[in-house]
Amino acid sequence: MGKSIRVRLLAWYAAVLTAVVGGFAGLLYYEVRAARLAEIDAQLEATAAGLDAALRLFPRHELTGDAPPPKKGEPGGKKGEPGGKKGPPPPKPPPPDFAGPPPREHLIASLDPPGPPEARPRGMYFGVWRADWTALKLSGLPGDRGPPAAPPGRPTIAFRGPNRELAVLGPEESVILVGRPAGDVLAGLRTFALQLAATGLGVLAVGLTGGWWIARRIVRPIRAIADTASRISATHLSERIDDTRVDAELADLARVLNDTFERLEQAFERQARFTADASHELRTPLTVIRSQAELALSRVREPVEYQEALRTCLRAAARMTDLVDGLLTLARADAGLAGTRRVRLEWHRVVADAVDLCRPLADERKVRVTTKLDPAAVVGDAPALARVVANLVANGVQYNHPGGEVRVHLAVDGDESLLTVEDTGPGIPAEDQPHLFERFYRADKARSRATGGTGLGLAIARAVVESHGGAVGVKSEPGRGSTFWVRLPLAPPGRV
Ligand code: ADP
Repeated sequence: MGKSIRVRLLAWYAAVLTAVVGGFAGLLYYEVRAARLAEIDAQLEATAAGLDAALRLFPRHELTGDAPPPKKGEPGGKKGEPGGKKGPPPPKPPPPDFAGPPPREHLIASLDPPGPPEARPRGMYFGVWRADWTALKLSGLPGDRGPPAAPPGRPTIAFRGPNRELAVLGPEESVILVGRPAGDVLAGLRTFALQLAATGLGVLAVGLTGGWWIARRIVRPIRAIADTASRISATHLSERIDDTRVDAELADLARVLNDTFERLEQAFERQARFTADASHELRTPLTVIRSQAELALSRVREPVEYQEALRTCLRAAARMTDLVDGLLTLARADAGLAGTRRVRLEWHRVVADAVDLCRPLADERKVRVTTKLDPAAVVGDAPALARVVANLVANGVQYNHPGGEVRVHLAVDGDESLLTVEDTGPGIPAEDQPHLFERFYRADKARSRATGGTGLGLAIARAVVESHGGAVGVKSEPGRGSTFWVRLPLAPPGRV
């Protein structure tokens, strides 16, 4: 089976649509996910920054896990730590009347994310470890959560299970870990992905249905054209494709096909008419032969009567021979075989010989035939062209009156030869002129039958001349005679 246009159209369309919808949905999901995570990460960073600020209020030894420095006055006690790591100055000792918790507990208590607890995300936890990995404060940490595996060089932010965690280095190499459950966000993102997929599939389904419908619409007229074309047969030649109901692109195809069908129909009609005319023409002499034979045999007759009957039969047979010859010549012309012998010939000699053949008939009809023939060479089939000339001259003689004249002229006109056969006959009515060269067409039916004409002469003339690349035509005015002309291309010079 051949490839279906509809399936291919649809496959392409589906591929492109899937890529577009998939790409768009993927991009949208990526953007929304990034935005949601950025929100969480910003919270975690703000919390870590708050814890870091609180840690900077701690004395250094509290963060490093070293022994506390000796108090003032104690041996080795120094103010500050020259050469030590830069750190925030230790908090000032409380005033003597200070009744609150001791400074360490106070500091630990103040080590909390910034802002009121109710403003924090639910389930938020944090842990702060000293540089020696001992915990300074742990709040809400999941049971299995210890300090991050290695102190983070740079802040690291990642998922740990369903939790999002940020680990940063605080002052004095302390480690701050802030986390919060992100399961709800992940679930939301999953729902969003499902919604996107469902919407994408919906768009895809609608798009593909539309595409299938359009593809069907595109293909349907082609099928209609094919159906009509297949219905058109020898018996249904008059059917046509309705080119007003197909799209513009196909309307051209429909018109071309309709033109072809039109020509086909005309050719069929011509053929049918030709066959009917040919049968009719052959029937007439056959009827004559039959009736003559029946009449002769109906009783015993005198020898002269038999001779007369036989002569009539011979005339009818001769007419049939002419007809059959003419039909064969036309059949050969239809097959492109009319005058296929191509030789360079002296056209004026061929014309002169053909005119001479007609002289006995002209003498009989008392018609004068004159010639004025300029030399001209053409390439062609001499016998076929001679028959054309003889037919034109014989017509000029036959459709003429006693004492009339036929003038045959041959001249060179540019790169063509122009032969004219002009008579002083009755002329041809304008309405008949376009049909003269059709098979079996007769302008004056009674008269042309009486001349013994077959009605094929001019049709044969046109077929032969056109097969030589020439043209044939007539100019006539009733009452003023007719002029038939034949144009043939001149032979290329130099060839003998
Ligand atoms: P036909 O054998 O009848 O002469 P043609 O094909 O030669 O057939 O001519 C077709 C018809 O053209 C003729 O029947 C006749 O009516 C008309 N015709 C041809 N030549 C002339 C002419 N020279 N003058 C008037 N009518 C002509």
